[in-house]
Amino acid sequence: MKQHTLKASCSFSGKGLHTGRPVSMQVLPSSPGTGIVFQRTDLPGEPMVAAHVRNVGRTRRGTTLSSAGVRILTPEHLLSALSCLGVDNALVRLDAAEVPILDGSARPYAEAFIACGLEEQPEERVPLAVRRPFVYEDPRSGARIGLEPFDGFEAEVTIDFKSKVIGVQKARFDASTDYVRDIAPCRTFCFRREVFFLRLTGLIRGGSLENALVVDEPRGYVGNPVLSFENEPARHKLLDLLGDFSLAGRPILGRVRAYKPGHTVNTKALALFLSENGYE
Ligand SMILES: [Zn+2]
Repeated sequence: MKQHTLKASCSFSGKGLHTGRPVSMQVLPSSPGTGIVFQRTDLPGEPMVAAHVRNVGRTRRGTTLSSAGVRILTPEHLLSALSCLGVDNALVRLDAAEVPILDGSARPYAEAFIACGLEEQPEERVPLAVRRPFVYEDPRSGARIGLEPFDGFEAEVTIDFKSKVIGVQKARFDASTDYVRDIAPCRTFCFRREVFFLRLTGLIRGGSLENALVVDEPRGYVGNPVLSFENEPARHKLLDLLGDFSLAGRPILGRVRAYKPGHTVNTKALALFLSENGYE
């Protein structure tokens, strides 16, 4: 399989979920072997940060990339769409620290990239094969990420929030999954009981019912939104995991099983898997 980039550039604007800051962002074609690279056009010298797990900084309520003091906040939905649609190489230029949250899902990204089209590049894609089973567990949260050898790519997540509204949910990505239809439209979510604290700590300055599902225990979702799927929260956690795992920098050949995934456990597991397998 050859590497791919976008046929043309795609533009997005909106505000960051955490910072609430307005941002304009262009996703441009780039050369084979470059991967996904972010560039801050608002900073002197327009510094770049590669979308790689070695650059992961803070992972509270979202993934942050950080290199030489330059940060990119909340890239996971954009990265999920790029990797699941097969975009290996792209330059993402943005004029603020945080990627726009848009509607809280990856649908606007996925639809724009489909409309733009992909261009095949001369270099081969070189996947990272899972050669032996790997497990990472976080004893504090009980979260568990497992990888096993498989000739293709599959991922399955199970969420367990001890919530009457969400309960235990599963979601799967395999060769039969239509990412644009089945995963990309699934929105981020939080619990109403967390909103006050999240606002107080400045973690959701750009958050609203326009870009997040808010769970109001035990009644249901605030504002009675129409869910894309009955297990939309699990599908969103899968969307996030696919974005976080794209930080391997190359496609993974294997099967991922995640119980209670989150950005911290996802990126810790991936970093450990890469180093244990000499894939740094
Ligand atoms: Zn997310």
